[in-house]
Amino acid sequence: MAEIIIPEPERFGSEAYVSVLEETDSALVCTFKANALHTMQDIAQAGYPDEICGLLIGLNRGQGWEVSEVRQVENINKERAADRFQLDPAGYQAIDSELRGSGNEIIGVFHSHPDCPARPSPTDLSNAWEGFVYPIVSVCKGQVAEVNCWIVTDEVSCGGRFQRLPHQA
Ligand SMILES: [Zn+2]
Repeated sequence: MAEIIIPEPERFGSEAYVSVLEETDSALVCTFKANALHTMQDIAQAGYPDEICGLLIGLNRGQGWEVSEVRQVENINKERAADRFQLDPAGYQAIDSELRGSGNEIIGVFHSHPDCPARPSPTDLSNAWEGFVYPIVSVCKGQVAEVNCWIVTDEVSCGGRFQRLPHQA
C-alpha cells in the first residue's frame, strides 16, 4: 500500500481543511474484526471513481470501537458523486431496525476519497456525530492507498474537530 502516491489537492492544505483536524491521535483504538477492513477497502475500490459510503456495525466499548461488519449504503448524492456523499436514510433505517435486539449497533460511517488523502473535509465535520467512528479510504487510480479512522473530539457546535483514531485489524 505504501508505494501508491496520493495526490494532495490544494484545498487539503487550506486553512479550512487543517482547522478541522486535531494534531494528536486518540488513545482509543478502532479494531476491525474478521474481514471487515478488507471488505471496506474492496467496496471503496469497486466504487472508484465515485465516492462510496456505508455503515460500520459492531460495538462501542470503553477502549474503543469494535467493527464486526461493514455494509455499503447507497450514496444518494448523484450530482457530486465524485467528491460528496450522502447516506441513503432508508438504507440506514433498514440496517438500524435489523440490528435491534442483536447486541450490535451502528457505530460509524465510512466513505472513500477518490484520488484524495484519507483526511476528513470541513463538510465531513459538519455531518459528523460524536460517538461515531469515521474511517476514510483513500483510493488513488483505482487502488486503495491508505485508510484512516477519525472521531470527533466534541459536539461540532462546541468546536469539535476530527482526531485520528489508530486502527488495527
Ligand atoms: Zn470526505
